[in-house]
Formats: sequence, C-alpha cells, structure tokens
Amino acid sequence: MAELTEHFRTSRRWTLYFSTHRNPRRCVAMARHVHREQIVPNRWLHAATLERFARKPISRKTLNALAFPDLCEKNSLFASANYVKNELPTRLSHRIVDMKELPYFVLTAPSIHHVYQIYIDAFSSCSQFPPITSLGQEALFCELLKKIVSDSAEVVQLVAEGLFQSRMISQRLGLHKNQHLHVQLQEWVEILMASRIGRRVLAEQHIALHEAVQQGNDIVDMQCDVLQCLSHAILASKRVSTYHYGVSPEVLISGCDVIHLPFVRAHLEYTLFELLKNAMRATVEHAGGKRGSVFAPPEELPAVHVLVASGPSELTIRISDAGGGLKQGDKDKIFQYGYTTVGDHAAIEVAESVAEESFLGNALSDRVAPMQESPMAGLGFGLPMSRLYARYFGGDTKVINLEGYGCDVYVTLSRTGDVLENILV
Ligand code: ADP
Ligand code: MG
Repeated sequence: MAELTEHFRTSRRWTLYFSTHRNPRRCVAMARHVHREQIVPNRWLHAATLERFARKPISRKTLNALAFPDLCEKNSLFASANYVKNELPTRLSHRIVDMKELPYFVLTAPSIHHVYQIYIDAFSSCSQFPPITSLGQEALFCELLKKIVSDSAEVVQLVAEGLFQSRMISQRLGLHKNQHLHVQLQEWVEILMASRIGRRVLAEQHIALHEAVQQGNDIVDMQCDVLQCLSHAILASKRVSTYHYGVSPEVLISGCDVIHLPFVRAHLEYTLFELLKNAMRATVEHAGGKRGSVFAPPEELPAVHVLVASGPSELTIRISDAGGGLKQGDKDKIFQYGYTTVGDHAAIEVAESVAEESFLGNALSDRVAPMQESPMAGLGFGLPMSRLYARYFGGDTKVINLEGYGCDVYVTLSRTGDVLENILV
C-alpha cells in the first residue's frame, strides 16, 4: 500500500484510474487510505492568514475596468500587480473555506483533495508575496501568476473526476439518494467554477499587461471579434467530429457581418466550441450513426445554423441543429455539472484515451483544444460551463428544445462591458 500511495502521490494516472474504475469498494478503500495518510494539516498553510483573507470582501470588476490602463504609466503596472496580489488570495481563501465545509466523503475523493491542495498552494505562495514596488518584484510576481495559472489548468477535469469519485463513495455509503447533498455539490461546483473564471481573468490580464508593454496583447479584448472566434470554434469542432464520427455537418452562418464586443476571447471560443460539438454530436447520432459504423455522407446531414444578431447593448448567437432534440426527461438535468448522455462505456473510453495520450491540458481544460483527438462529449461540463462564462459578465446561455426535431441554443452577451463580475457569492 505504501508503494501505491507513492505512485498516487506522484502520478496523475492514479487519479484517472479512480475516475475510470467502476469498483466503488476500491474507490472507498482508496479514499479512506488517502484520508489516513494524506489529509494532514498543510504545513504551508497558516490558519490565521487564511482567516484574515477569508474575512475580506471580494472586490469585483467590470470588463471595462479590467481593460488596460495607460501602459506608459509604470505606476499602473504596480497598481495592477498589487491589486491582483491582494485580490487573488482573498478569492482563494473564500473557496478554501467552502471546501473545508464540504461533506467529509467529498473531500476525501482523491481528485477533489488534489484540487484542495492546488488551492492551498496558490493561496500560500500568493499571500506571502511582499508588496510590489519595483520592476524586478513585478517580474517575479508574473512568474508566480503563470505558475498558479498553469497549476490550475487541470482543475476542471479534476472536479469532473472528483464528482464521479464522490458519487462512487456516496453509493457505497448509501448517501447517493440524498437530494440535499446532490444540490449542495452542484452549488459548490458552480461557485468554484465561477470564482475560477474570475481569478484566471485577473491573473492572465495582469500577465498580459506585463507583456503588452512589448507586444500589445490583451486577455480582456475590448474589440473581441465574434466572427473570428466563431470560425476558430467551427474549425475545431468540425475536426473533432470528423475524427470521432468520420463526418461533420456543415455550419452555415447568417446575421451580422462584423461584430466586436468587450469579452475574453478564450471564453467565447470555448463556449462556441462546446455548443457546436453538442449540435454536431446530436446531428450525426440522430442521422443514425454510431462510432465504428458507416455514417450518412455529409451532404445528407442537416446543417447546423448559426445566427449572429446584435443591437447596441446585447449580442445574441443562436446555434440551431436538427439533431432530434433532448432525450426525454433531460431538460432539467442538462445544466448539471457532470451530467452527460454519453453511456458509461464511452465515458470510460474518453477518460482512458485521454490518460494514454496525455493531451489532458488541451482536451479537458476549458480552452479550445487545437487537437482533433479531444473528446466529442462525455464530461458533462460543456453546457454548464458555457452558461457560466456567459453569465460571468452579464449574459446567459439557454437551450430551447424543439421536441423530436432539434435544439436552439441561445448565447446572449452584453456589449457594453459595464457589468460587474458575477462571482455568485
Ligand atoms: P457532454 O456533451 O459532455 O455530454 P454537455 O454539458 O455539453 O455534456 O451536454 C449535456 C447533455 O445535454 C449531452 O450529453 C446531451 O445529451 C444534451 N445536449 C446538449 N446539447 C444538445 C443538443 N444540441 N441536442 C441534443 N442534446 C443535447
Ligand atoms: Mg458537450
């Protein structure tokens, strides 16, 4: 067992092993073991510091306020660095306190525990950083931010695995029918993900500010080109569909020609990528194919229609497919984290192939994967994350089910950039 623990400590494969392994007894045994051996008070975490930060309120920003200040002004670089230096640990501390209040069996799920450790490490390093008054310190702080961003890249996938593991453990403990626990867990994931969006925007925007002095790159893009994001997402989703099914439906765009709005490009591309994959999956599977069998030729697949409409205050993107619509009884579940209609077998296949190929970062993080081998579906995070990204700066994502025919998915976004971050707490 000691050997196993060591493997577990050092290798992500073990985490994936538990996410793909369907034996609840093993999951529970491992969770107990993790608890006994590994959940020890973190040696880097000073409880008083955590409490001090957790008492501070979060200071929210609008997209307009996040956009770059005067780049020539050295003080604005320090002001941004010091704002992020204080704000990140505050936001992290709120989430750490939340995690400590999770039901015991959830925190002992190996992947959730891993997430907890990532948060503690980020909090410790950021809260201990001294005030930033020189360019040298500012450069060091940027290095730290880059590390924090890259360490948290796998959080979405870890949470997806953790939800599965805690489901296994709760089944074993006879708690799986407890509706209150289910709701509590869904709310926790929603807040965790919303808060993660905010922290990443803050950290990445400061890194971009640091680099923009040379290059002019910006994370918050005041002129985010919607059609460009759309064409990237179409290209990526068509590649994934072709890889998985051998075909991909055509995507026809109508509506406005040139549209810009203040937004985070990566968030818009991710959202469109996920929604297009859903539309394509429904279209291809509804047309009668299964993986491995012969599919209808592309010209026989009904096209996916994308309409882009824009007024002075709001932009709407409608993605319509003729993929048969939602499965019966799914309407209330599709926005739950971890809910998917990909069967157990296929879900395992997705997780295993991901583990083997180690393209995790791209495949399951909340970025558009450039690789065609990304999973088509199976994590159950596409819809809830798309809605969260839209809602974060005042928009929304809605699914209208045209029973027996297809789905219309509406993404609305604010064009004004003056909506405060929606951090949910
Ligand atoms: P995943 O795609 O990993 O299953 P999502 O959160 O993207 O997770 O979607 C959840 C479920 O919602 C899907 O499994 C599918 O059953 C349903 N769904 C989403 N979009 C569509 C669509 N356009 N047509 C039919 N069903 C859909
Ligand atoms: Mg999906």
